Amino acid sequence: MATRQMQNFINGTWKAAQSGDRFESRNPAHPAELIGVFPQSGTAEIEEAVHSANRAQESWRALGLVKRAEYLLRVARLMEEDTEPLAQIIAREAGKQVNEARADVVEAIHTAQYAFAFGHLGQYGRVLGDEVPSKRCYEILEPRGVVVAITPWNFPVALPFWLTGLSLVLGNCVILKPSEYTPMCGARIAGYFEQAGMPAGVFQVLHGAGETAGAPLVSHPGTHVVLFTGSYGVGLRIKQEVAKHAHKVCTIETGGKNAVLVMEDANLDMAVTASLLSAFKTAGQRCVTAGRLLVDSRVVERFRDRFVETAKRVRVGDPLDDKVFYGAMINRQGVEKGRRFNEMARTEGFEVLLDRNTEAPPTPDGYWLKPFVYAGPWRSDSVCLTEEAFSPHVAIVPVRGVEEAVTVYNDTKYGLSGAIITEDYRKAKYAEEHMQCGIFYWNLPCIGAGVRLPFGGVKQSGNLIPSAAGLIPVLTHPKAVTYNLDTTIVMAQGLSAEIK
Ligand code: NAD
Repeated sequence: MATRQMQNFINGTWKAAQSGDRFESRNPAHPAELIGVFPQSGTAEIEEAVHSANRAQESWRALGLVKRAEYLLRVARLMEEDTEPLAQIIAREAGKQVNEARADVVEAIHTAQYAFAFGHLGQYGRVLGDEVPSKRCYEILEPRGVVVAITPWNFPVALPFWLTGLSLVLGNCVILKPSEYTPMCGARIAGYFEQAGMPAGVFQVLHGAGETAGAPLVSHPGTHVVLFTGSYGVGLRIKQEVAKHAHKVCTIETGGKNAVLVMEDANLDMAVTASLLSAFKTAGQRCVTAGRLLVDSRVVERFRDRFVETAKRVRVGDPLDDKVFYGAMINRQGVEKGRRFNEMARTEGFEVLLDRNTEAPPTPDGYWLKPFVYAGPWRSDSVCLTEEAFSPHVAIVPVRGVEEAVTVYNDTKYGLSGAIITEDYRKAKYAEEHMQCGIFYWNLPCIGAGVRLPFGGVKQSGNLIPSAAGLIPVLTHPKAVTYNLDTTIVMAQGLSAEIK
């Protein structure tokens, strides 16, 4: 990929930052490879983007649901044609193994198609009956205005679509602030919207750091909705800032300390596969990554041996290699955080079953972490058992029965995703009903997502407003409309209309 000087996409045109400040994006597997140089946006760009979005909003809204939706279908088609080149960009920029990168693109395509389909179904609101027969009551979903979408690096194409697809179809204008670690993916997305002929100002991309580009968009009086996906600390600050503005709403989708529960009766092949996928895909850098495998003590030894044996064979290497299981860590800080968690498992007195980090790294200068597996009884005061490591770092914790497994699952401040592996539907049902999580799987890994279902967590995994299909109430304001078809006024609740 040739090094490119990239720009923001503001008001339908590509523009550099007025300050001239720039930042680089590099390949985490080969940091010497420069992916591109991007504008570090500041006040001037933010003002222009917010102004353009507000100016575009009324005509975008007036276009109507179906016409707006058609743009999303055009974008989906453009992405379909560009799947392989886009997957290669994701692999190079985010360090995601190329098969995972393709899945990221497909998820984005599905999300754009879903938004299109939603528009064509024409779900504007509800028609309600009224106690007075001559009245007709409707609920119309009005767009909120300007949506700011702030996204993390780990799903650099899919996540922007999760946050923007329905936003646009429902009549909002969107300013996307992609992660500063995957700006090329953000720029490519802007390119699809440009090619699709999106009216100027309706979809814009501003690059830059969280503090200087993200935070001012959140606090700007001209923005109305903030859709954030990322770490809990940043999400909480965004929520606190949004609380100062009566006209704003936000969603925060944050991290987790997810788990796979393996029951005594589990199909162990399935349990090992589900656990490996949950713990190590994307090098453990998914919000839904399982940091804990809660295994019934009656099968824990058998499970442990098979899990560790398989983890020894997991191939870690160049993200562009189709034969590797996972690719690189996103940056040096990610590696350091993972190492700190591995070290913590030792200092907290757990038994280390596997630490492959003494093996030679796939490239000498890339950011790598190999699988780390440890074991020990549950301790809610353990930091490595309860906090998000965001790395290939997983604990095997013995539990007895489904009730204890669920109690341990719930014993963290997070509540995003969980899975149970069992042949017993009663255990699955018990877990489904008692696990404090937003996303639940039976006989599957606890990773994976689909736009047609809500996606979000409870407790510190979000602010209880799920993403994807769950976003509609945040993206629209329900306007209550009542028509009187009679020639006289009859009030509800028996209220007298007589003028005395
Ligand atoms: P991050 O919080 O560091 O950054 C996310 C985005 O927020 C980036 O675009 C960043 O520039 C921006 N940002 C940073 N500071 C900001 C501020 N003060 N104001 C406004 N914006 C700011 O997260 P990350 O490292 O990119 O992603 C990893 C985290 O994201 C993990 O905790 C992971 O669990 C979480 N995540 C959650 C989900 C979910 O759906 N729940 C999905 C993917 C990732």
